Amino acid sequence: MTIEANLARVREDVTVACRRANRPESSVSLMAVSKVHPVESLLEAYAAGQRLFGENRVQEFAGKFPSLSACTEGEYHLIGPLQSNKSSKAAELFHSIDTVDSVKLAQRLDSAAATLGKKLPIYIEVKLSHEDSKHGISPEELPALLNAIAPLENLTAVGLMTVPPWSEDAETARPYFRHLRELRDAQQRLHPTLTRLSTGMSNDFAVAIEEGSTCVRIGTAIFGRRISPDQQA
Ligand SMILES: *Cc1c(COP(=O)(O)O)cnc(C)c1O
Repeated sequence: MTIEANLARVREDVTVACRRANRPESSVSLMAVSKVHPVESLLEAYAAGQRLFGENRVQEFAGKFPSLSACTEGEYHLIGPLQSNKSSKAAELFHSIDTVDSVKLAQRLDSAAATLGKKLPIYIEVKLSHEDSKHGISPEELPALLNAIAPLENLTAVGLMTVPPWSEDAETARPYFRHLRELRDAQQRLHPTLTRLSTGMSNDFAVAIEEGSTCVRIGTAIFGRRISPDQQA
């Protein structure tokens, strides 16, 4: 299957999931997760009309970035963990940082954005499971983090993001997606810009859409399997 054909199929599946959930198709964005795949794959997806991309590593995307200069409508989000010492580079390369999980990182990104004269949308990554391998802030610490971000002039918290424990069965992820939506709903009165939910991957995006996802992050179903397990994250 070509990337173009995969994209067409995934878009159709997203449409079906939206219809089943009684939601307008326009309420869910499809993010193509191009981590580990060569820049040629991004270019192919762009040629097929894809505009929103997710990448996991700053260094990896820095290597691809120069080859994307003709993709003037491309929108790139960082969806992997970010160390504060890479925050300047990340603020420069990406349109949005979707994995903010500490005050320190938010402050670094805010200064970097100020230096660049740029306004940066961010998502807060929330850790809802107890797996060591997962990143993100705990639900208990979320209100304090949002309050600390509110006065930062160059950042806007637009939503919450989470990665549930991996499972064959998409239904396993449902309580995590629902919990994230409840956290957003609880914070929206104080933080009206916090409207979005980045949830759902290749195996569970239909469930995520039923639970309010506004952005599904799809890698494998568009670009194919990634080569080795240590390249997954
Ligand atoms: C790799 C990755 C995805 C895409 O996963 P697939 O199962 O390949 O669709 C989505 N979100 C994050 C944070 C990822 O690291």
